[in-house]
Amino acid sequence: MSKMEVKTSLLDNMIGVGDMVLIEPLSEDTFIENLKKRFDHNEIYTYIGSVVISMNPYKSLPIYTAEKVEEYRNRNFYELSPHILNIFSFKQDNDQCILITGESGAGKTEASKFVMSYVAAVCGKGQEVNKVKEQLLQSNPVLEAFGNAKTVKNDNSSRFGKYMDIEFDFKGDPLGGVISNYLLEKSRVVKQPRGERNFHIFYQLLSGASDDTLQKLKLDRDFSKYNYLSLDSATVNGLDDAASFRTVRNAMQIVGFMEDEVQSILELVAAVLKLGNIEFKPESRCNGYDESRVKDKNDLKEMCELLGIEQSVLERAFSFRTVEAKMEKVSTTLNVAQAYYARDALAKNLYSRLFSWLVNRINESIKVCLSGFSLNLCCFFEQFIINYCNEKLQQIFIELTLREEQEEYVREDIEWTNIEYFNNAIICDLIENNKNGILAMLDEECLRPGTVTDETFLDKLNTMCAEHQHFESRQSKNSKFLTDHSLPHNCFRIQHYAGKVLYRAEGFVDKNNDLLYRDLSQAMYKANHSLIKILFPEGNPAKVNLKRPPTAGFQFRASVGTLMKNLLTKNPNYIRCIKPNDKKAAHIFTDSLVCHQVRYLGLLENVRVRRAGYAFRQAYDPCLERYKMLCKQTWPHWKGPAREGVEVLLTDLQVPAEEFAYGRTKIFIRNPRTLFFLEEKRSQC
Ligand code: ADP
Repeated sequence: MSKMEVKTSLLDNMIGVGDMVLIEPLSEDTFIENLKKRFDHNEIYTYIGSVVISMNPYKSLPIYTAEKVEEYRNRNFYELSPHILNIFSFKQDNDQCILITGESGAGKTEASKFVMSYVAAVCGKGQEVNKVKEQLLQSNPVLEAFGNAKTVKNDNSSRFGKYMDIEFDFKGDPLGGVISNYLLEKSRVVKQPRGERNFHIFYQLLSGASDDTLQKLKLDRDFSKYNYLSLDSATVNGLDDAASFRTVRNAMQIVGFMEDEVQSILELVAAVLKLGNIEFKPESRCNGYDESRVKDKNDLKEMCELLGIEQSVLERAFSFRTVEAKMEKVSTTLNVAQAYYARDALAKNLYSRLFSWLVNRINESIKVCLSGFSLNLCCFFEQFIINYCNEKLQQIFIELTLREEQEEYVREDIEWTNIEYFNNAIICDLIENNKNGILAMLDEECLRPGTVTDETFLDKLNTMCAEHQHFESRQSKNSKFLTDHSLPHNCFRIQHYAGKVLYRAEGFVDKNNDLLYRDLSQAMYKANHSLIKILFPEGNPAKVNLKRPPTAGFQFRASVGTLMKNLLTKNPNYIRCIKPNDKKAAHIFTDSLVCHQVRYLGLLENVRVRRAGYAFRQAYDPCLERYKMLCKQTWPHWKGPAREGVEVLLTDLQVPAEEFAYGRTKIFIRNPRTLFFLEEKRSQC
């Protein structure tokens, strides 16, 4: 490696500095300018210490080739320009995980794929290892087909949070891992926002399956035949659904799905499409109750055939709702609106349960984990939940970066000074507090007898949070619940760490309830179809449970809790993804958009934490190797221990003592200027 290369890696005025801790002076402007400079030179990765910032280039760059992988594998991270491939070289700890964050379209999915293929490329070559690697890689297309969709922002957007744990053995070979799935955006199954699509698998199946398969599944190739598929953006430029279907089929096989399992999965996907086509018409009865009937029974019949359900059972479940109290059963008829509600609830449940089952099934073969959460500044229940998760991830990011910094100082025997930082705990508390957090209030409202609507929920929120605000200090969590007269009707606003977000209360109660009438789960349980039976265990009449199933909010809070516990025991590596523009275009860098993301990701704060103690640190050996030419005593060869060599060198250069601290294995440099000074000297040699 030439000397110039080393210099280029972290400190180059042309392409900006590779590690943000070295920016002088540090401000939002210099930070963004540095990102821009690097972006313009196709340097999409920049460090903040061990955190990797990744800018989405929106074009393919030749930086992920096998040669690159080899190059990075054999070098220390500071010797080459910043790269995502270095993520594993920062820490020696075995219990590592990677957290990839950023908004939709920022590059999280791509980043996770690069990381996975890197793991696959550098790990051992034994037969068993190869199998695990292959399965790890191939789990991606399967998860993407079922969990990703085209959105306005991103043609291949993950619509679920995932966390993936890859376990390595002592040699660094992957043993396997576990993927956890958090809250699939299941409302997408029945309705998609304008310009967006349903989950990829529906289109892939219709475009890519053979005529024979489609016939068996009683499907028509034409997207327009299905109510659940939005048509305005059914085909997407650059997405070849038919080819993807073949990839997914192949991947399923590699991951270890049996042929009959694949068949069952596809039957379920087909059943969801059929379900969407079932329509209802009103039927007036003399008793004054509104009833509904299935309009055209063909789709119903075909769906029942696919799933092995007796048609009359399902038909009845669409017409009645039975509520079981302690000793009695009360049946009421469903009107047309309720029948549609029941139909959509069934479709959402079928699909999301299938998805969870798929994730579990994949886990069985790969036992592995990554995280990609997106912060969408939109305003419905799903976004509220996702933003809550982001809030928790931010909290843990702050906690862990500080903890890590602290631990390194302790390990290296260096004195530690406390650092002030913004703590978002009060926002988390506003949402998750067991007694009067927003989720608890929503649950309370959902479980309350009487008429419950989104308005009553909002009233409750306003009374609990807003009215008391005047009496509480500005630091209270209620100060994060914003009320003002400009709020649109039926909305509330929260001051998230990432900015203010307006939420529409519409649908909160309903989505939190996540209600599937018992008649329908029982009808599903009766199906003569191995997979469906597993997916609806509560439909077993032998297990009548009068307790209400947990709400969506409750389930999500519990899984976020588990994720946080898990993360706290690990050594997380962070990849912070940034989207350069809203046009999905290469070469465009929109300052205001980047600035917003830099702010809410807390990146400047991150640099400050890192610099508050010692901005830069380096193991003694490479440090001596790099600067030994600056001193007669250390050049060309220093015979003694590297640490002493570095001491001799720095004394000789008359660098003030307070600028350094000698750790056990590393030298700590307080001010970036000192590093610049050394580099300057080097370039004069
Ligand atoms: P997210 O998962 O954050 O929503 P993706 O990872 O799906 O975003 O990225 C969106 C799109 O941006 C991708 O489909 C791809 O076209 C492009 N992209 C993202 N990262 C890269 C990269 N490192 N190199 C090239 N293109 C990228």
